[in-house]
Amino acid sequence: LEENLSKAKAYMAKFAEIGVLNHIGGESVPAKSGKVFETTSPVDGKVLASVAKGDESDIDAAVAAAKEAFKTWSKMPGKERRAILIKVAEGIEARAEEIAFTECMDTGQALRFMSKAAIRGAANFRFFADQAPTAEDGLALRNPNQMNVTSRRPIGPIGVITPWNTPFMLSTWKIAPALAAGCTVVHKPAEFSPMTAKLLVEIAEEAGLPKGVLNLVNGFGEDAGKALTEHKDIKAIAFVGESRTGSLIMKQGADTLKRFHLELGGKNPVIVFDDADMERAVDAAAFMIYSLNGERCTSSSRVLVQDSIYEEFTAKLADVASRIKVGHPLDPETVVGPLIHPEHETKVLSYFDKAKASGATIAAGGEKVGEEGCFVRPTLFTNASNDMDIAQEEIFGPVLTAIPFKDDEEALKLANDVEYGLAAYLWTNDLNRAMYMTDNLEAGMMWVNSENVRHLPSPFGGVKASGIGRDGGDWSFDFYMETVNVSFPR
Ligand code: NAD
Repeated sequence: LEENLSKAKAYMAKFAEIGVLNHIGGESVPAKSGKVFETTSPVDGKVLASVAKGDESDIDAAVAAAKEAFKTWSKMPGKERRAILIKVAEGIEARAEEIAFTECMDTGQALRFMSKAAIRGAANFRFFADQAPTAEDGLALRNPNQMNVTSRRPIGPIGVITPWNTPFMLSTWKIAPALAAGCTVVHKPAEFSPMTAKLLVEIAEEAGLPKGVLNLVNGFGEDAGKALTEHKDIKAIAFVGESRTGSLIMKQGADTLKRFHLELGGKNPVIVFDDADMERAVDAAAFMIYSLNGERCTSSSRVLVQDSIYEEFTAKLADVASRIKVGHPLDPETVVGPLIHPEHETKVLSYFDKAKASGATIAAGGEKVGEEGCFVRPTLFTNASNDMDIAQEEIFGPVLTAIPFKDDEEALKLANDVEYGLAAYLWTNDLNRAMYMTDNLEAGMMWVNSENVRHLPSPFGGVKASGIGRDGGDWSFDFYMETVNVSFPR
């Protein structure tokens, strides 16, 4: 830990000295107003750096730069864009340790996960870069009188608005396909975790990304974020965050008729039948809620367990939860680090009181760890029912609610009876049951006998209050591009 702490200090020295600046048209600049805000460490609340507090005037400048750069970037052959984006991936790999250490300090996420997240950021760039040369391809559709030829064009400058959980990886998941498609970007990262977005734009420009293609404006949602969603020259908004913010963003962008892609919250069930491999299911359920601090949109925040194995299963889960190491994010042994911010910690802690008040049992955790920092113990609620707030609301911490069910029908009813529909995890060895359940579960993504394992060509996104649109594979390109049709007489 000591060695990691001194490395982190060295990596972050420039931020401590000059702050986290905006990056517009290839230049690192303070906010036009000169205003700043502070980003603090979730470990001890100390200030890590001051951050440019951008507003409408900074957004205007960034959008102007993105609009200008779009003229050439959108016309550059896909092969050339590919070559630059592969270099960006290499740049990320070369600075993966710096990215991971910075992210750990800024977000409180454990190093064991952030090291992988940095590398996944590079994988996102490689994956979408490879599709840049064919992104404009379309179809020929013929009838006796016409030849119709379709093709795709980049839609224009994009606004990317990201949250504070795994911020580096998540922003690459949006920015890489947008750039590969030929779009330019204005990125507004979350105010709680601004640091690695600055690293990304620096790495990208060092790799040869032309100035103005990727721009960064820091600031708060209600000013910088709002101005971006309302800007007439921004053609689409790719947003990741809370469901209610997604809805607000659609309203803000309605007057300028933008396209929206919304990746929102979740209250994802893990459904475990008594014919499942119990050890694997316990492991996976624990992993999906206690990794990444449970601050993860696809986390398994409800576990629905068949009543015949409920006691045994929840006892095993409670045992796993109580043995998880909570500690400094840079300690290689740590699994659960501090939550992002005292405000978020207060929200998570409030559910411990709500659980008690509603009659659930705290089978593990349920308390804060130490006085300093935002550390909470991995928590399991049992004796819960689906109508409780702990079963309905997104807590976004290492907090799991376990609910028993009798049969397939009851499992489905409980699983679907929430506002959200992002992911679902099913554990059974009965193929017919797996087919029936997955046919009827209201979720955009389902995993059978597995934790969340991503395959980048497959679609990622939610139904109901969990979002609109899909990322991954060609779905990303469909969002960042317009399909046009030209018809010729025959
Ligand atoms: P949030 O909605 O509070 O903020 C997300 C971003 O939106 C931030 O950059 C914020 O500044 C900005 N914002 C806020 N108000 C805005 C406004 N009026 N106009 C424009 N921008 C505005 O979310 P958060 O608390 O940072 O992140 C956690 C949430 O993100 C959780 O609900 C989680 O489930 C969700 N999430 C979803 C996915 C997914 O893929 N579905 C992935 C990760 C996180």
